[in-house]
Amino acid sequence: MSVYSRLSGFRDVPPAARRAQLAEHTGRAPDEFRALDPSEGLTVEQADHMIENVVGVLGVPLGVATNFTINGDDVLVPMATEEPSVVAAASNAARIARAAGGFHTSSSRPIMQAQIQVVDVEDPEGARLRLLDARAELLRMADEQDPQLVELGGGARELSVRVVEARPGRYVVLHLMVDVRDAMGANAVNSMAEAVATRVEEIARGRALLRILTNKADTRLARANAVFDAATLGGADVVRDIVHAGALAEADPYRAATHNKGILNGITAVVLATGNDTRAVESGAHSHAVGSDGRYTALSHFETDADGNLTGTLELPMPVGLVGGATKVHPAARSAVRLLGVATAQQLSEVITAVGLAQNVAALRALATEGIQRGHMSLHARNVAVSAGASATELPQVVSRLVADRVVRADHAERVLAELRAGRP
Ligand code: NAD
Repeated sequence: MSVYSRLSGFRDVPPAARRAQLAEHTGRAPDEFRALDPSEGLTVEQADHMIENVVGVLGVPLGVATNFTINGDDVLVPMATEEPSVVAAASNAARIARAAGGFHTSSSRPIMQAQIQVVDVEDPEGARLRLLDARAELLRMADEQDPQLVELGGGARELSVRVVEARPGRYVVLHLMVDVRDAMGANAVNSMAEAVATRVEEIARGRALLRILTNKADTRLARANAVFDAATLGGADVVRDIVHAGALAEADPYRAATHNKGILNGITAVVLATGNDTRAVESGAHSHAVGSDGRYTALSHFETDADGNLTGTLELPMPVGLVGGATKVHPAARSAVRLLGVATAQQLSEVITAVGLAQNVAALRALATEGIQRGHMSLHARNVAVSAGASATELPQVVSRLVADRVVRADHAERVLAELRAGRP
């Protein structure tokens, strides 16, 4: 990592010039970011090797969030999203956090868990203890499945056994915990679970049924916290109201769902840009948002510090990798990882979590002050104006009329466009 993340004039130049600026700024060859140009990115032939029945590829805008400082190092963050305002909002909140030292992050070891469900067990509690007794044998069998991972310092680390009460009866569920190093790890742990399942059913004296990872990856957590200066946020009243907004999300699942979606606006964009599995991260986040009391709540928390500044914290599962999946095969994802400059999956998971916190603060600040629509409006107005048929020369006028009228709708854009073409103001 560490490249100065404040890019002056970045938004005022066209995309090709921005790519050139990235290369210059990061000291990398321009070629390393070439794949971010759609004409040089993922080909249909490459896509055809990735999934089934390929007929094309889908373009999603990829932007760069600026101003991020994480653990004292600057980082430029690639974000792939179709939603206007997301990249600008993250950059804006990162600029505010930067004044107080930026984001501080940490993470647990990259431990993923697979579950093996055993059905038709006569004595589930007895089976549980027999399986725990076989710990060393089962971990060894799992490791034999992935010598490369073991060679890299990863491998099976621990197992636990639960007896789960379900409608048809009691299931014995064995959890295999695996250090997956720089992989997301789904394939790695699934293969291990399949490899030990026959021995598990022998020991449990039942029938092994499901053998797959859990996306509730609560042994692979990433954390971020930051201080946001009260004056820059808009004053003590804004801090107070952001704390109120966070508190409602902690107390009310209806608000928590939208609060967490705001966090995921940032998180999913970086996960997608780096070719990682967005669904795995999102299901991990939502399952983590359910507390031990079974209630769905906010993933982040907001408080004030002794100086009246806003402090934000975020912790959630972050199963992302730098090997495997699409991260190594998708050319644009490879460019995105190069831009980040991260060397390990843990570093990547921490950057993503910092972006989630920044996104969250930006949304709460807008909600607690002018409302979310104003910031959204001009970007949204551009999309509406383009869909209504505005040309590049007509666009600025149509957008400013829609924003001034505070009516950003297709029918109004068509009316404004018709007036413009008829020569009326
Ligand atoms: P993978 O199997 O392609 O790569 C992991 C393997 O790479 C390891 O087992 C190891 O042998 C090797 N490896 C080489 N260098 C490594 C390093 N530095 N660190 C760790 N391992 C290294 O991929 P994966 O990460 O096991 O699986 C990810 C894929 O699985 C994603 O595409 C995901 O979408 C998919 N998947 C997800 C789910 C789910 O989330 N429920 C289920 C099945 C599959």
